[in-house]
Amino acid sequence: MIEQNISVTAETKAIWLIFSGEKIFQFTDNTGLMIETWETLSFAHAYHDQIVRIGSHRDLPCFLIDMGNEHIEHEQLSLVSMRALLMQNQTSFFGIAARAWQIALFMRTHRFCGQCGSAMQQIDWEMAMQCSRCQHRCYPRISPCIIVSIRHNDKILLAQGKPQRSRQMFSTLAGFVESGETLEQAVHREVFEEVGIQVKNLRYFSSQPWPFPHSLMIGFLADFDSGEIKVDGKEILEAYWFAPDKLPNIPPKQSIAGRLIEHTLEEIKQQKNITAPTHS
Ligand SMILES: [Zn+2]
Repeated sequence: MIEQNISVTAETKAIWLIFSGEKIFQFTDNTGLMIETWETLSFAHAYHDQIVRIGSHRDLPCFLIDMGNEHIEHEQLSLVSMRALLMQNQTSFFGIAARAWQIALFMRTHRFCGQCGSAMQQIDWEMAMQCSRCQHRCYPRISPCIIVSIRHNDKILLAQGKPQRSRQMFSTLAGFVESGETLEQAVHREVFEEVGIQVKNLRYFSSQPWPFPHSLMIGFLADFDSGEIKVDGKEILEAYWFAPDKLPNIPPKQSIAGRLIEHTLEEIKQQKNITAPTHS
């Protein structure tokens, strides 16, 4: 899966994913991620022995360099957050950048063995860190998280979480899958815990890697079954049934939450067309 043994020469043209702190370098003219030959990236040459191959994208090799907390000023480059990158609407680029960021974070946080405390080293046949003493091996952390859009006739349930997380936005419900739980159980548990209702007719929608910092969002559609909305007051502060023509501030379509909402509103519209009286 990972071809890490490719050697980087001065002429190697690649997609470079270079992180400083929690941000990624991008050309200031906003043309997207860096597609360059290694020789042109003189600002990164000191990190030559820390280049990590993380795969390919559009037939180009992709390399990760993590500068850690090193801060470099460069007139043609700017540092952008992963959220800002997502909002630039370059979905395919965001995918490879998300992968790079999750691997960078994994390597930062797995320098020492969790079992015996010795130094860990990256192995060269797959993306993993291994302890040189006890052979304990760790893989990049991925945290599965369900996200669900709930419909009740011609309305959609949208909830507002803690302000710092949701930025005054109403969105679908989401939560981490617990150990030993199926995705379906996680949906039913999270919905009941956060808003006190039961749902039915659960259907898989799609998924999205969500590198904040290492979630995999697994999206579902569901219908209201029973109960009255009663928010938990911790994860969720407010939740209501919204009609499509009276929507609050909702997430953008670059996120799976935005696409789940869009899909549910479309379902409501189609349902209305079916049930609307004909004027013949
Ligand atoms: Zn160990």
